[in-house]
Amino acid sequence: MAKTLRSTKDLVSAGLVDEGAEVIAKTEEQFSIAITPAMKQQMQQFSTVTDPVARQFIPMAEELVLLDEELADPIGDDPYTKVKGITHRYPDRLLLKPLHTCSVYCRFCFRREKVGQGSEGLSNTELDAALDYIRTHPEVWEVILTGGDPLIMSTKRLQYIVQSLDQIEHVKVIRFHTRVPSVEPERVTDEVVRALKVKTAVYVVLHCNSAQEIGEPQRHAIAQLVDAGIPMLSQSVLLKGVNDTPEALEALVRTLVENRVKVYYLHHGDLAQGTSHFRTTIAEGQSLIKALRGNVSGVCQPLYVLDIPGGYGKVPLMPTYYDEAKGQVEDYQGMIHQYPPQVG
Ligand SMILES: *Cc1c(COP(=O)(O)O)cnc(C)c1O
Ligand code: SF4
Repeated sequence: MAKTLRSTKDLVSAGLVDEGAEVIAKTEEQFSIAITPAMKQQMQQFSTVTDPVARQFIPMAEELVLLDEELADPIGDDPYTKVKGITHRYPDRLLLKPLHTCSVYCRFCFRREKVGQGSEGLSNTELDAALDYIRTHPEVWEVILTGGDPLIMSTKRLQYIVQSLDQIEHVKVIRFHTRVPSVEPERVTDEVVRALKVKTAVYVVLHCNSAQEIGEPQRHAIAQLVDAGIPMLSQSVLLKGVNDTPEALEALVRTLVENRVKVYYLHHGDLAQGTSHFRTTIAEGQSLIKALRGNVSGVCQPLYVLDIPGGYGKVPLMPTYYDEAKGQVEDYQGMIHQYPPQVG
């Protein structure tokens, strides 16, 4: 059984990085390395320039470049951390982060300061304190499990959390944000699927950035969840060299919907440290969104969002088509039509 690659040395032995890659070894001091066998399998070339899967997981020298505007806490989670493991920013929903480890370490990760091998997750006592916070806050309609990756917890812990939440009357929705069905699909076992089947609505949001991540094992893992009646949504990060062309983005959203995953968010790249080589401009993102509209099924359309630094939350960055002052609307092919403003 192939193992997850966890160091520059592993990457060199596996042929993913050239011999003598001292620069790459430096990136390892900043952020853990992990590439699962499933993701190595989906790489067509071991090139961070031409391969959209390799680019997400193989470290690059550019990670060592830090810009002034880049932040250790790019989306402002810290001020909203109420008790350890809980980020409560919005009125009706909060994040529960039981662990800080993942199957893979994505080189663009916006939680890279918190996430990684050796970062401590919640102890059992801390987990119970986090669950108590949820119990005593009746406005919490939805609990979003994230991390780290919540689907790499032991089935026993997963069951404990899901069942505890299921017993809280005011929690109506439990949402998982995970990369597991894509990056480590063999973890989606019958046991895990059973642990997610409770009275309360459970949604699984798959973090996936390239159609090339989805092969046969991934299709099977997604089908296991959806066949069990668990609705799935997707979130993707807009990444230069991965999905920043109309063709790549179209292939991604079509692949997701073909596998019964409703496309949800396309995140603009956060100002995480050492990730400038992945960021596009917002104008580029908007032009990609325009390329999808009309040409690709409405079910495949993501909402393009920015998480405002400082913890002010996510806002849509969608292009506008209606110009009220001119009384004009633009169609998906770029033609302008009259649409008079409504009076009174
Ligand atoms: C992104 C995020 C959520 C979820 O936002 P949705 O728009 O509901 O998907 C909730 N809480 C925090 C702190 C977040 O960063
Ligand atoms: S799976 Fe998510 S939290 Fe983990 S490294 Fe990737 S982006 Fe970061």
